[in-house]
Amino acid sequence: MADNSTEKIHCLIIGSGPAGYTAAVYAARANMKPVLYQGIQPGGQLTITTEVENYPGYPNGIQGPEMMVDFEKQAARMGTDIRFGIATKVDFSKQPYKIWIDEQKLIEADAVIIATGASAKWLGLPSEQRLNGFGVSACAVCDGFFFRGKEVAIVGAGDTAAEEALYLSKLCTTVHMLVRRDQMRASKVMQERVLKTPNIKMYWNSEADEVLGENKVEALRIKNNKTGEKADIPVSGFFVAIGHQPNSDIFKPWVDMDEAGYIKTVPGTSKTNVEGIFAAGDVQDKIYRQAVTAAGSGCMAALDAERYLSAKEIL
Ligand code: NDP
Repeated sequence: MADNSTEKIHCLIIGSGPAGYTAAVYAARANMKPVLYQGIQPGGQLTITTEVENYPGYPNGIQGPEMMVDFEKQAARMGTDIRFGIATKVDFSKQPYKIWIDEQKLIEADAVIIATGASAKWLGLPSEQRLNGFGVSACAVCDGFFFRGKEVAIVGAGDTAAEEALYLSKLCTTVHMLVRRDQMRASKVMQERVLKTPNIKMYWNSEADEVLGENKVEALRIKNNKTGEKADIPVSGFFVAIGHQPNSDIFKPWVDMDEAGYIKTVPGTSKTNVEGIFAAGDVQDKIYRQAVTAAGSGCMAALDAERYLSAKEIL
C-alpha cells in the first residue's frame, strides 16, 4: 500500500555505504535518533566487490558484502532506524528540509547527511558484466593485489586510469592500457609518469571489444577503432577506469557541485553551501574513494550535524 505519510525527524541519512552507516553510528550514539534510507543498492559499492584486505581491523580480510552487513548491524544496534527506500526528490529551500521517499512518503528533517556515493561507469559489454568480480574490476586499489605477478589490461585515459595503471604497474608484470583516442585526458604530469613506466604498454585508438573467459578473465579482445583490426591479449584481470558518476542528481537544484556533479564541501568539514545539509563519502570525494576515507567522512558529517543541531537548540 502506498505510504503517503509525513514524518518529522531530526536527522536523515541518505545512503548505506561506509559513509552512511558510520554517520548513523555516531548520530545514534549522540541521541539524534537518525533515520537512514538505504537507497538503490543497500550496502553500496562494496557489495559488488569480493575480498576487502585494506580496511583496518580485519587482519584476515573480509568479503565486501559481509563487511557491509557488519556495518549495518552496528548502526542498527546503536539505534538507527534503517529503512528500504530511495530519496527521489528534495526541497532544501527552508527548514525543516523536505525529502520524498519513493516519490510518496515525505520526511521533514532538521539536518540531512547525504551519503549517496558514486557509481563506477562501465563499458556496457555483456562479458564485462558476466565476469565482474571474476577478474573484471573498477578499482585497482581494491583488487590489484589479486593480480600480483600477472598481466592485466586497463581501459581509460583520465587521471583515475593513469593512477590505477601506475598502481597496477607496481604489482603486475605488464599493464596493457587501452586509450580510445590518440591522446590521454589525464593531467600532463600523470601522462608523463604513465608513458615512462616500462611495464605499461600503450594501445592508442583502441577499445575493448570483448572480455574472454568462462569463469574467469583469460584474455581481452581489443579493436583498433581506426583500422578495425582486432587482437587478443592474454590477461588475468581487466580494469575499467572510465570515470565515476556521483549519485547527486536530486540535490542539484540546491547544493553546490563541481562540473562532474561531486558535492562541494567546505574543506576540512562535511558542510555544504546549505546550512544543516552535510555530505560524506564518494558523493563528495573524487580523489580517495576508499571505504575507510568514506567512513571517516561519515563520522565528520554526524559530528558536524550534531554541532549544528545543538547550536540551533534543536537537540
Ligand atoms: P574522466 O572523466 O576525467 O576520464 C574518463 C576517461 O575515460 C577519459 O579519458 C575517457 O576518454 C575515457 N572513457 C570514457 N568512456 C569510455 C569508453 N566507453 N571507452 C573507453 N574510454 C572511455 O574521469 P576520471 O575518473 O579519470 O577523473 C574524474 C575527475 O577526477 C577528473 O577531474 C580528474 O582530474 C579527477 N581526479 C583527480 C585525481 C588526483 O588529483 N589525484 C585522481 C583521480 C581523478 P576520452 O578522453 O576520450 O573522453
